[in-house]
Amino acid sequence: MTEIKTPLHTLLDTIEITTNKAQKQPYSVQLLAVSKTWPAEDLRKLANQGQRCFGENYLQEALTKIAALSDLRIEWHFIGPIQSNKTRDIAANFDWVQSIDRIKIARRLSEQRPSNLDKLNVCIQVNIDNEDSKSGVKSDEVLNFAKQIIQFEHLQLRGLMIIPKKTTDPQQQQHSFQNAQSLFSQLAAIYPSIDTLSMGMSADMECAIAEGSTMVRIGTALFGARHTPLSE
Ligand SMILES: *Cc1c(COP(=O)(O)O)cnc(C)c1O
Repeated sequence: MTEIKTPLHTLLDTIEITTNKAQKQPYSVQLLAVSKTWPAEDLRKLANQGQRCFGENYLQEALTKIAALSDLRIEWHFIGPIQSNKTRDIAANFDWVQSIDRIKIARRLSEQRPSNLDKLNVCIQVNIDNEDSKSGVKSDEVLNFAKQIIQFEHLQLRGLMIIPKKTTDPQQQQHSFQNAQSLFSQLAAIYPSIDTLSMGMSADMECAIAEGSTMVRIGTALFGARHTPLSE
């Protein structure tokens, strides 16, 4: 009898094959299922197949799903841009925030993290290719930025989130990921809490894993092409 694989299990197989090919530790790359625009029932299906970490970009949409799925043990990651007036709800409802690129936002998240919850895990979003109009901390400012983040009482600095420049040039892509990995090892040597290099999406996952990603953020390759994003 031939077994029919779910898209989740096909993707997990691809991640493992790529991890082995890159001679990394087995199961050292985590899958973050990026579920923006997909309804709660789709997430529930994946959770029932064993997926635990979900990433959301839009707060209102995420809060609806978090409420609808409160009977499941899901780890929620916020990965979208953050406005000041959203920090209270993010601090109260998420386990991770990967899109930290302003000290003011980090301070608010720390102050607003409810005291009955564990520290909020955070990653610094890095603008690794120093693109002008892109959010994220520029590479040469990351060490200084981390020094400030580490002071916040209710945040736990876990690593970096990388969104490289859009390119079809594999060498440029590899170069960005290598720079990110080098920055990540510098930081990890200073701060023992750092263990997460979040890089790689549907289109560049394999290169990201080869260059040292510990967490890939996958939407399209898991759920299919997105509908238009829901508005805030
Ligand atoms: C949407 C999104 C992803 C997933 O992208 P896909 O190309 O659909 O895999 C990953 N990271 C961030 C920050 C995103 O906004």
